Amino acid sequence: MTFLIRRCCQDECSTARDQEVDVMLGVKNVLTQIEAAVARRSKTLPQVTPRLVAVSKIKPAPLIVEAYEAGIRDFGENYVNELVEKANDPLILEKCKDIKWHFIGHLQTNKINKLLGAPKLHMIQTVHSEKLADNLNKQWPKYRTSDEKLPVMVQINTSAEEAKNGIEPSEATKVVEHVLKKCPNLDFKGLMTIGIYDYDTSKGPNPDFMTLARCRQEVCDNLTLDINNVELSMGMSTDYEHAIELGATTVRVGSVIFGRSEKIFFSLRAKIFKGKLL
Ligand SMILES: *Cc1c(COP(=O)(O)O)cnc(C)c1O
Repeated sequence: MTFLIRRCCQDECSTARDQEVDVMLGVKNVLTQIEAAVARRSKTLPQVTPRLVAVSKIKPAPLIVEAYEAGIRDFGENYVNELVEKANDPLILEKCKDIKWHFIGHLQTNKINKLLGAPKLHMIQTVHSEKLADNLNKQWPKYRTSDEKLPVMVQINTSAEEAKNGIEPSEATKVVEHVLKKCPNLDFKGLMTIGIYDYDTSKGPNPDFMTLARCRQEVCDNLTLDINNVELSMGMSTDYEHAIELGATTVRVGSVIFGRSEKIFFSLRAKIFKGKLL
């Protein structure tokens, strides 16, 4: 009996230790790669140090704490319920005082209030319509703890896939102008895209990233905005370095930090979410 208990303990401890090492190493490797990619980036692009958002979907609170202790402050979630649950997790509230939550999924109107009430909500990267911007603008004053505006990005559907959310590239100026002029409680931070998965970069620069960069140029020209102040959120585990070379100022990286063990489950859930398996 004693033996059994000790075995259990040891197993648990060694699992925890393995994960700790993995997350620490993962963060360290990604930060090193980001630095190298910044050095390769064209000097004509804004020289902004990219922000690493660790995408923690499906990962439990202790792993988030590990990443936080490795220096990460920005975390991304793509389901409202999951973000709210983690943002209220006692362990995270206790150990991650300066955590910044980014919402990076599809935001439905009926979930807005739930999301805006999350502690340490930092940014909504996926504003996909003027109507959603209006709703966020209207609700935010009920939730903010100071007179801070809510940072938002406008999501662009750069790959023209029906299943993807986001506005058409041609609408970018119109929607950004709406946020700037009609939504005084929102702080426009930049443009975001998901793009096609696993693009083969041997074929040249990822067209989604090129499209997002072009959108930013157009928006800045049309609305006379300083390009250094308009972010590009693009790039994930397989292509964040490539994205940085093409101007990403925010990369959203999950599996190379937290491990790939649930990758099949991820893609299955993504398919179910998009209605492909239902
Ligand atoms: C899951 C997810 C990511 C991170 O993907 P990885 O391949 O695990 O790095 C980035 N952005 C969005 C919107 C996601 O849903």
